[in-house]
Amino acid sequence: MKWPHLFAWLIHSPHLYAVLRGTRRALVIGIVYYLIVYVLERASGATTKQYRSRGFRQDVCYWFFYVSGLNQLLFMAALFSFLDTRLTILHLKMVDSWPPMVRGTVWILLGDFTTYWVHRLQHASRFVWAFHSTHHSQEQLNFITTTRFHPVDHFIADTIKYFPQLMLGASPMSWLPLHLTMDFISMTQHSRIKWRFGLLSKVLATPRFHSFHHSADPRHHNKNFGGLLSIWDHMFGTAVDAPEQPTEYGLTDIKMPTLSSTLLVPFRLLRQSYARDSLRSDNAKMHSAGSRDDRRQIGA
Ligand SMILES: [Zn+2]
Ligand SMILES: [Zn+2]
Repeated sequence: MKWPHLFAWLIHSPHLYAVLRGTRRALVIGIVYYLIVYVLERASGATTKQYRSRGFRQDVCYWFFYVSGLNQLLFMAALFSFLDTRLTILHLKMVDSWPPMVRGTVWILLGDFTTYWVHRLQHASRFVWAFHSTHHSQEQLNFITTTRFHPVDHFIADTIKYFPQLMLGASPMSWLPLHLTMDFISMTQHSRIKWRFGLLSKVLATPRFHSFHHSADPRHHNKNFGGLLSIWDHMFGTAVDAPEQPTEYGLTDIKMPTLSSTLLVPFRLLRQSYARDSLRSDNAKMHSAGSRDDRRQIGA
């Protein structure tokens, strides 16, 4: 397709208007959440200096990329429609006939259980961690960090989570109050709200709970994986708490100071990691060849 034709197609494409509408929606929701979270942070005595940082501006770009629907259009829509038509055997609609309350509870519990284990994978797999490190590279943790995900990390996580959703059936997220509540909990997780939330923190992944997951202190690494709920971490022994909330966030060994580095550094990390593997295997081969020669000489 020639450039003028491509341009004309783009201008008349319903997808373009959908993304433009999505951008407007992302702007409105972003401002509303910002005002609410800012007030709560100030009321709890937390800092708000993160909103003047370069890291915050990077997260704003990620926010528009995901909330406008651009990522969905570019990467996920085609994949999900392909899987939907090919995997009809998995359309089990397991909870469709259940009462709404039971269906909603099961949907949220199973969805969050999957999110917990996908998050464990994001830290355990060298390949996925390289891309998940973008989320953890934020040193100025702020509420909008909730959308700071490398597109590859997002793609892998969403694809895995798609399968149980397909089997369960209709999502209760179409019920607006539930959707807004879930969104708000997710938004506040990366905020600096200092409150402990008492017994609620035993069940919910509160801002304080998730702040340990982003702590730069190695004692807190690979802990508090819970998405919406903290119960999985308590259940599987990955929960951590301390009298003092962390004040330093981010990664000590990986730096991503610019927006482009948040996208490119993960590929460099992977290349370096596989190069180290190949060097180690070459050394091991040379060592074993050397040992064979030594044995031959001794035998001779
Ligand atoms: Zn993580
Ligand atoms: Zn996080």
